[in-house]
Amino acid sequence: MNMYAYKLKLINSYKPVEGLRGKLGLPMGLNMYEMYPFWYRFFTELKFEVVHSPFSTRKLYQLGQQTIPSDTVCFPAKLMHGHVQKLIDDGIETIFYPCLSYNFDENLGDNHYNCPVVAYYPEVINNNMKDIKKVSFIKEYFGVHRPNDFPQKAYERLALHFPDLTLNEVRMAAKKAYAEQEAYKQKVIEKGNEIIEKAEKAGKKIFVLAGRPYHIDPEINHGIDKLISGFDVAIVSEDVIAARMSRFRTHVLNQWTYHSRLYAAAKYVTTRKDMELVQLVSFGCGVDAITTDEVREILETENKIYTQIKIDEITNLGAVKIRVRSLLAAIDND
Ligand code: SF4
Repeated sequence: MNMYAYKLKLINSYKPVEGLRGKLGLPMGLNMYEMYPFWYRFFTELKFEVVHSPFSTRKLYQLGQQTIPSDTVCFPAKLMHGHVQKLIDDGIETIFYPCLSYNFDENLGDNHYNCPVVAYYPEVINNNMKDIKKVSFIKEYFGVHRPNDFPQKAYERLALHFPDLTLNEVRMAAKKAYAEQEAYKQKVIEKGNEIIEKAEKAGKKIFVLAGRPYHIDPEINHGIDKLISGFDVAIVSEDVIAARMSRFRTHVLNQWTYHSRLYAAAKYVTTRKDMELVQLVSFGCGVDAITTDEVREILETENKIYTQIKIDEITNLGAVKIRVRSLLAAIDND
């Protein structure tokens, strides 16, 4: 009953298919954890073989560590250097890592931006990794939030790298890519609903482990999901229950897709006696200075307990265990 484990399995189910146009490597970090189905389908349809770097490990992190220009950036971003380096070391000649100012619009907030780090980290990689010059690095800007304009714009950007592409091919591939992303989302929601139903029947507590799509990365969450499931509770991610909510008024400007989900998830949790929310926060995340206050307020206004777990390059799992135990004890005494 662990949504995090399910999502990892789902990402791994997108297997490379040999393609006439060659191989594209995608670094598996930050937003790629959620957008892989989209890009996989898009480029597979365009006859590329699509591969991704493996899920993070300590060793993979160290591969790119020397090229990180700022020690204060969040850990999920730092990991990207290792992913790109791994692809280069594995002999991938073309790496696709696009800049995306906007995310998909889920109608939960005032806008649907990506956080600036997610949106423009390809530029940081391009300007700081020496080895990037050894490969063809595609970091073009795309607007996936506008499905009607996407094919034409994507065609224009990609034709710079692959002149034999046709607009028609890109149109057809885009259609499949949007459908694939929707199918992925539905699978996640269905699995989440199944976990919730099973927990309800078994009278188990449901923990919403609320973070970002990349928090399913084992090197980012340090196995916190497994540790919490060890307490015999079910685990779902924030996107599963955010999908049950409509837009509502927040005290802060609600302009980032991932963060809108956090607020919606917190609000939904206040309607359920059997649900608790634990927010995962990465050290160095500027945006979370805002989200943590808002999530706390949404929960505490309805007498729910707010629990936050800060995660970094090294996380003390002993301390996490104590936090979870205290939360369970507090709920039992309620
Ligand atoms: S939301 Fe926070 S953790 Fe995520 S990329 Fe942006 S700064 Fe990093």
